[in-house]
Amino acid sequence: MSTIAAIATPQAAAGLGTVRISGENALTIGDSVFSALSGKKLSSLSGYSALYGKVYDGETPIDDAVALVFRAPKSYTGEDVVELSCHGGLYIMQRVLRAVLEAGASPAEPGEFTKRAFLNGKMDLNEAEAVMSLISASGEEARAATLNALDGALSREIFSCREKLAITAAFMAAWVDYPDDEIDELSDEQMTGTLTQVKASLDKLLSGFDAGKAILDGVDTAIVGRPNVGKSTLLNALSGTDRAIVTSVAGTTRDVLEETVRVGNITLRLADTAGIRTNTDDEIEKIGVSRARERFDRASLVLMVLDAQHPLSQDDKELLSLCEEKNCVVVINKTDGERLLDQEELSTLTKKTIVEISAKENLNMQSLVSAIEAVVGTAGFDPAAPLITTERQRVCVKKAADNIEEALQGIAMGITPDAVNVCIDCAIENLSVLTGEKATETVVDEVFRNFCVGK
Ligand code: GDP
Repeated sequence: MSTIAAIATPQAAAGLGTVRISGENALTIGDSVFSALSGKKLSSLSGYSALYGKVYDGETPIDDAVALVFRAPKSYTGEDVVELSCHGGLYIMQRVLRAVLEAGASPAEPGEFTKRAFLNGKMDLNEAEAVMSLISASGEEARAATLNALDGALSREIFSCREKLAITAAFMAAWVDYPDDEIDELSDEQMTGTLTQVKASLDKLLSGFDAGKAILDGVDTAIVGRPNVGKSTLLNALSGTDRAIVTSVAGTTRDVLEETVRVGNITLRLADTAGIRTNTDDEIEKIGVSRARERFDRASLVLMVLDAQHPLSQDDKELLSLCEEKNCVVVINKTDGERLLDQEELSTLTKKTIVEISAKENLNMQSLVSAIEAVVGTAGFDPAAPLITTERQRVCVKKAADNIEEALQGIAMGITPDAVNVCIDCAIENLSVLTGEKATETVVDEVFRNFCVGK
């Protein structure tokens, strides 16, 4: 396999920047661009050692550097690795990388270091995906959850399920193949017991997927409501800035404003939409209206805002009925003044959670946060529990759970052990695809395609 190199730190002015080299020629390539003050060669060092010196591009010194040496297999990739830590800065880093490439390394593809770690058995596919999530983790719970996956919590859970299935399958196969031997017949209860237990573990993983996704990736959220009910004010109150234009003239939020905010344990990607008014003649507003509708359709959470100081209008009622299909919190805003909204009428129109706030006076915002956490399902989120975080993982777990369901139904209908075993084998296969042991090259490539270069 070729020796690869890439800049492993952000490409911006910084105190330090690192070029990482991995592969069987890493040390010789390192020696041809790096010269230690002590005169020692990198190739003479044992693993986990460092030398101080200069990086050269031909005869020209580029920068002072510390070179770190890791020896296979005790490195991130499992190969020989040299890391050249220089002064950060785009120009210096690119010159160092160029020198390394001219000395014989190939430019690394996105995620290629982690891919090599996977191929060399340093981590399984779930753990590799956790590396990616950890890089983009946006809060404490996201970090804890992904670090937990990187430590192998998900993989351990999957291995344990797979082992239980394998034992059951082996038992049944032996009993079918050697009917004359003294192998105790596995009772239907024993079999269904194990299968039900494994199915429950997989179902639990599936049900945690949405909450995990909300915590890791954030939630697309639309704030909708008639013009002037206080959507921009709510957006500002949640984000703590004054980005949305707040005025008392109807229809001023003409475009879709987006803001990313941390609310409780989740990141919301909030969009304040131009009120989904269907009867405007203003051309610019029309564009805003259609964008608002598009954003609404895409949103996984809707905050439907009503004005406590106005009776429910026809527009409000239409919006409420649109929201019945969505994950939605109904927010009664402007509760700091005279009440004209008919609460009883409202409760006949919606089954969604209703929260009363004043965005302007910052009243009762914590209740809104709790309602959002409850609707999104992150309220009791446990970052220490095994978690599936990618669509790829979800599909594998779902397929395995379906296979087991099929096996259970088969047993109930009295199908032959052979046929039950086919279902169990499929489930084992799907769990092996999940950990990467049986993943196809295309799947593996797809996982690493989303990585950044240098990781
Ligand atoms: P939008 O059109 O839905 O985005 O509404 P805005 O956020 O622009 O607010 C419209 C008007 O309502 C502004 O004058 C706000 O100051 C006012 N407003 C917003 N929230 C509250 C609130 O909680 N209480 C009161 N009394 N006024 C509010």
